Amino acid sequence: MSSDADDGQPSEDRRKYEFRKVLDELDEFEGSGTQLVTIYIPEDKQISDVVAHVTQEHSEASNIKSKQTRTNVQDALTSIKDRLRYYDTYPPDNGIVIFSGAVNAGGGQTDMVTRVLESPPEPVQSFRYHCDSDFLTEPLEEMMSDKGLFGLIVLDRREANVGWLKGKRVEPVKSASSLVPGKQRKGGQSAQRFARLRLEAIDNFYQEVAEMANDLMVPERHNLDGILVGGPSPTKDEFLDGDYLHHELQDKVLGKFDIAYTDESGLYDIVDAAQEVLADQEVVKDKRQMEEFFEKLHTGEQATYGFDETRQNLMMGSVERLLLSEDLHHDVVAYTCPNDHDEFEIVERRHDVPEHTCTTCGEEAEPGEREDVVEHLIDIAEQRGTETKFISTDFEKGEQLMDAFGGIAGILRYETGV
Ligand SMILES: [Zn+2]
Repeated sequence: MSSDADDGQPSEDRRKYEFRKVLDELDEFEGSGTQLVTIYIPEDKQISDVVAHVTQEHSEASNIKSKQTRTNVQDALTSIKDRLRYYDTYPPDNGIVIFSGAVNAGGGQTDMVTRVLESPPEPVQSFRYHCDSDFLTEPLEEMMSDKGLFGLIVLDRREANVGWLKGKRVEPVKSASSLVPGKQRKGGQSAQRFARLRLEAIDNFYQEVAEMANDLMVPERHNLDGILVGGPSPTKDEFLDGDYLHHELQDKVLGKFDIAYTDESGLYDIVDAAQEVLADQEVVKDKRQMEEFFEKLHTGEQATYGFDETRQNLMMGSVERLLLSEDLHHDVVAYTCPNDHDEFEIVERRHDVPEHTCTTCGEEAEPGEREDVVEHLIDIAEQRGTETKFISTDFEKGEQLMDAFGGIAGILRYETGV
């Protein structure tokens, strides 16, 4: 059983799901004016500084001409200040993001909404105060995207930089510059000797760059999702063709990319240039999960799908991995009939609870608890030490999970006959 379940802390999957749900909700909200406030607070920012900033904004808001907007902005800021009282000197790990404002509720009405997201999956990078007609969700969206660890190497014959791409964040780590002489030789040197020295210097530099990359990436080779190499031609080609990199790193190279700069900015350029390759990589992991599921489904009994069967297997502790579609946005309602048969029905969010006839005895069943179906299943999974994977619908088998299997499936540890 995972330690997450033991100490009552929600698992990362679960937290991500909850964050995603709040973000989806926030994306739907609109303010009728510039009145939705978002604050990103890094973990090393003193709460008292944030309170001071919010107080300042509150007083500046008194200059807003529209009375309604002014009141709404000030109400939002007051609500944020109230929330900040719950914290001591500093925010929790990775910081906090607070959203507050009066959103359109239809019919000219507004609703005051405040949401606090603590400890996002990656650290909040810098303090941001944002007041607009939408909530600022993009920085959090980026953190929510699939993690992934990629090694970055950019080089020409003059300089090189290595670093990481962690999730969507580029992290420069080390750089080197070469003593490779330019193409023009000085007077007095023989052309042949000059060319030889120059090639030697280039070779030495490639070795130095490879050492720098090996030192950084070899210890992480089992966590690496791939390596991107960039630079002008023919440098990057010479570097890769010359097998300078450790062979295990060489095998992880996903591609080489033409980029103009090889300073730190080159690390960002290479990530831009590799967008398509990176998008494929995200889906590759999901594809593997679904392929394994279909294989088990076709060759034996170690697969389950649909809400009822998967839930039963989860309760038995027989599910190794729970596969949930990222597009699964439904509730589950529990029913009990007069003969005490418990059954469930999947219901669309914000739709009324339907009537339910017991499939065992045909009696009318009473609705009980209504819950988000994903949270319901993750709860059981956590208690049974089952891993949860969210599967995108950006590929055929991912779509099938949603359309043909109701968005819910599982790979089993052993056959259960359920
Ligand atoms: Zn019944």
